[in-house]
Amino acid sequence: MKTVLITGSTSGIGLGIAIEFAKSGYSIAFNGLEENAAEIAFNVGEEFGVKTKFYGANIADAIQIEEMIKSIIIDFGSLDVLVNNAGIQYVSPVESFPIERWNSIIQLNLNAVFYTSKFVWDNMKKNKFGRIINIASAHGLVASEFKAAYVSAKHGVVGLTKVLALEGAPFGITANSICPGYVKTPLVEKQISEQAIAHGISEDEVISKIMLQKHAVKEFVTVESLGKLAVFLASENANLITGTAMPVDGGWTAQ
Ligand code: NAD
Repeated sequence: MKTVLITGSTSGIGLGIAIEFAKSGYSIAFNGLEENAAEIAFNVGEEFGVKTKFYGANIADAIQIEEMIKSIIIDFGSLDVLVNNAGIQYVSPVESFPIERWNSIIQLNLNAVFYTSKFVWDNMKKNKFGRIINIASAHGLVASEFKAAYVSAKHGVVGLTKVLALEGAPFGITANSICPGYVKTPLVEKQISEQAIAHGISEDEVISKIMLQKHAVKEFVTVESLGKLAVFLASENANLITGTAMPVDGGWTAQ
């Protein structure tokens, strides 16, 4: 059975993606910073009868990523699918955007996608099979105010994905970005309060006037739909889908 590493998979979208891979019988390398992360990984393994293991690497650190990927290849035999999902957000106008926040967002949301891809490459190349799935964002395609670092990083991920697709093509490695609109996860819950302060409006108004206002379909995207798309992109049938940036955004970026 194939093995998938999903960064930031003990919360939100990453956990939703992990559950869909578990339903499809994949062995899963979990990663994330949640306190009960190892327990989450264990419970998914028990529930779906698949092999799971938790790795506590800080995805902002290239050395920890390299060590984690070496351990996964030893523990599972190979690493077939990489889902770059770990990500953070910070909302502030440009002039008061703290430089350290800019740096940490670029480090985790963009640089880490390069580090993980670099360190899985040799194994995927040897196997003549690999799938790299990057959870970018609608903000990888269009911008919103107050999200300078996030929008920059996610546009970078969409570009990096295209390079990985071109370089991976001779070796059976595909790379694609999934670009979700708003998904109600802990990351978005936190933004609701931050945006309310930045825009000077109530939290309900942030949801209706800012978030879902962007979607033509006035609903949050579900983690299940993103997980099922990721499982399809990982399949043999998706071998000619590469270098894409796929919006799952209720029609946001169609406008
Ligand atoms: P979340 O906060 O629920 O989950 C993020 C995960 O990343 C957590 O498991 C967290 O522990 C992990 N993480 C954070 N920093 C880490 C680090 N240094 N090392 C290892 N793990 C770390 O967020 P989410 O909403 O599920 O977001 C997941 C991804 O989806 C992010 O890349 C985000 O940008 C993207 N995304 C989210 C939305 C949305 O509306 N929620 C929309 C588009 C894209």
